[in-house]
Amino acid sequence: MAQRCYVPHMVKRFTKRNEGFCCLHCGGEVPAGSHGTIRNHCPSCLYSQHTDIDPGDRAATCRGLMTPVHAYYLSGTITLVHRCARCGFERENKIAQAPGVAPDDLPRVYALMRESAHTAPVR
Ligand SMILES: [Zn+2]
Ligand SMILES: [Zn+2]
Repeated sequence: MAQRCYVPHMVKRFTKRNEGFCCLHCGGEVPAGSHGTIRNHCPSCLYSQHTDIDPGDRAATCRGLMTPVHAYYLSGTITLVHRCARCGFERENKIAQAPGVAPDDLPRVYALMRESAHTAPVR
């Protein structure tokens, strides 16, 4: 799939960065989050990138593509689980629902919840 914009692979170590980036999977632009949320996945295809050790620190050097493998609903919040295709690291992320910050594609999130309901490990 063609990248529409350039994704730098060597990024300096930042502390708590909240900025837009280009989706590694579909090449779409991912806007920065707002209201103190750290945006780390694509609103249209839900893929993420392994860039953080702690959310927002951009300290991971792996930079693998993180596939959305599971989604679940708990206490009014939908959480996505991403797994790194390169190293297997898993991370949970709340979906972006606030208006005005390119909210996540809900039909896609619901589809993932349905698909993963049968395959998800019991937590
Ligand atoms: Zn994408
Ligand atoms: Zn990784």
